[in-house]
Amino acid sequence: MPSTLQPIVNECTQRAKLHLLLKRDDLIHPEISGNKWRKLKYNLEQARTEGKSRLVTFGGAFSNHITATSAAGKYLGFETVGIIRGEPHHPLNSSLQFAQDCGMQFIYLDRTHYRDKDISSISSHPLLTENECIYWLPEGGANMLAVKGCEEIVSEIDTPFDFICAACGTGTTLAGMAAALSPKQKAIGFPVLKNGEFLFDDIRRLTNADCQLMTDYHFGGYAKTTPELIQFIHTFYQEQQVLLDYVYTGKMMYGIFDLIQRGWFPEGSVIIAVHTGGVQNANVFNLKSSEL
Ligand SMILES: *Cc1c(COP(=O)(O)O)cnc(C)c1O
Repeated sequence: MPSTLQPIVNECTQRAKLHLLLKRDDLIHPEISGNKWRKLKYNLEQARTEGKSRLVTFGGAFSNHITATSAAGKYLGFETVGIIRGEPHHPLNSSLQFAQDCGMQFIYLDRTHYRDKDISSISSHPLLTENECIYWLPEGGANMLAVKGCEEIVSEIDTPFDFICAACGTGTTLAGMAAALSPKQKAIGFPVLKNGEFLFDDIRRLTNADCQLMTDYHFGGYAKTTPELIQFIHTFYQEQQVLLDYVYTGKMMYGIFDLIQRGWFPEGSVIIAVHTGGVQNANVFNLKSSEL
């Protein structure tokens, strides 16, 4: 730390006379990568301070937050429990297999209860009854301690810049970055879910700071992709030797280049794009070996 800033130079940035820098949070840790590390940092400190020994959190079956929490537990000596949306699938997918190999135990919660985070149907599960040892982490790690961790993405940057960009799931990372900006700097989020406008309210609950959301780069919704997006990730890898994933960072980077081509950023702007990680996911490695 701090993670490196890698200049991204190509025909597009040169024609637009812009400086694009990629903040390589994907290189922070091979298993707890990117913004998941930022979001866990102060939460795990807090869990330790409170003397808690078991992290319990929520996620879908492909959640990067689940895999990151399981790895953090393994390295830092916490038990981990993942409350997973939907029915169990056997064999486990690669994300859940990884989490299990890290020692995480799973409790499955049907989609209706999961949506409301209503755990009444599983609250008597033996892993959930010893309240005194449990530290609860919300879905996606989205709380104020996560915001505090993400503020450090900005505070550790020692070069002047105008815009900072991130892909948004819960918007927690963007909220933290926005909270740490000076008045002339702008935080721009690229929601990866459809109808991403709903994130404004979620972000407002985490910070009063301003941010802008570019809601047209979801490619059909969460984890949806198109041949155009895959082609973009392919080209970016060949040009820059940086792997993006198609759930988060690929969509952000596609959006940034689209905005550059449309002349959205003033000439001379310095833009920082945050590589929030997510490339440890086996789906991306398949993409890398078979398509890149
Ligand atoms: C989880 C994740 C995000 C979304 O972060 P939020 O703080 O929930 O908006 C972005 N990029 C990657 C790679 C992620 O794993």
